[in-house]
Amino acid sequence: MTRYGMIIDITKCTGCYNCFLTCRDEFAGNDNGNYAAAQPMSGMNWMKLIERERGQYPKVKVSYTPVTCMHCENAGCIKAAQNNAVYRRPDGIVIIDPVKAKGQKQIVSGCPYRVIEWNEEKQVAQKCILCAHLLDKGEKVPRCVESCPTGALIFGNLDDPKSEIAKLMASNTTEALHPEFGLKEKVRYISLAKKFIAGTVIYGDIDEVAGNITVSLSGDGQTRLTRTNGFGDFEFEGLADNADYTVMIEASGYKAKSVKAKTLKDTYLGEIVLKK
Ligand code: SF4
Ligand code: SF4
Repeated sequence: MTRYGMIIDITKCTGCYNCFLTCRDEFAGNDNGNYAAAQPMSGMNWMKLIERERGQYPKVKVSYTPVTCMHCENAGCIKAAQNNAVYRRPDGIVIIDPVKAKGQKQIVSGCPYRVIEWNEEKQVAQKCILCAHLLDKGEKVPRCVESCPTGALIFGNLDDPKSEIAKLMASNTTEALHPEFGLKEKVRYISLAKKFIAGTVIYGDIDEVAGNITVSLSGDGQTRLTRTNGFGDFEFEGLADNADYTVMIEASGYKAKSVKAKTLKDTYLGEIVLKK
């Protein structure tokens, strides 16, 4: 049996937009019969890249999250369609039938990921088909996967225990973009951006950065440890959303200092001054 899936490794995505551009190249203006009607020449994309600026100056990072149809087992789009206009193939790929789906605008709102777009000219809902038209001709991977220069997109047969994707899925390192939707997504992620808390430690008496000292973070039932770098900076990544944390800084000869933070957003605590 073949059951396709994809893993998107956020640590490898550089935001180069190759996947986005290749998808446009494959589908814009190209009719693919029963698989998908041609995309309009502008204004539609089935592989989106969400760019998010995280933190505050001087601690600012950018995260890139490629988002496409998740080819869900509990697909909301299938439920929203009439006349079986959206269906799942035996290999798990979810297809919007371009003929049966004509005029069924409600299909667009059946997807909580909002990856279905409405083609106004053709009056049909459209989305990623994982290049099913090419896989059926013997290609091994969709074009976005082929074009990714960093290997951030991993595609394959979930039912082949020897495949890279099956091994990664079994390793418990992947997660759905929105597990709260409960859709049993077959596109999953490694290292989705969570929240960070960062700061810079200063020795107050000599007004110098405090390098190589221990900083601990407690909260969400765990305690994490790190050390400041040569610039006195520390950072805790991958933290839970909207959780209460306490940062504790201890340096020999100085009073211990604790700072509270809530991860409503990525947080740079600024300069934390230690006193004797
Ligand atoms: S991500 Fe949206 S469009 Fe894709 S299968 Fe799931 S519900 Fe349907
Ligand atoms: S092609 Fe790969 S590295 Fe480039 S934006 Fe897409 S997923 Fe990221």
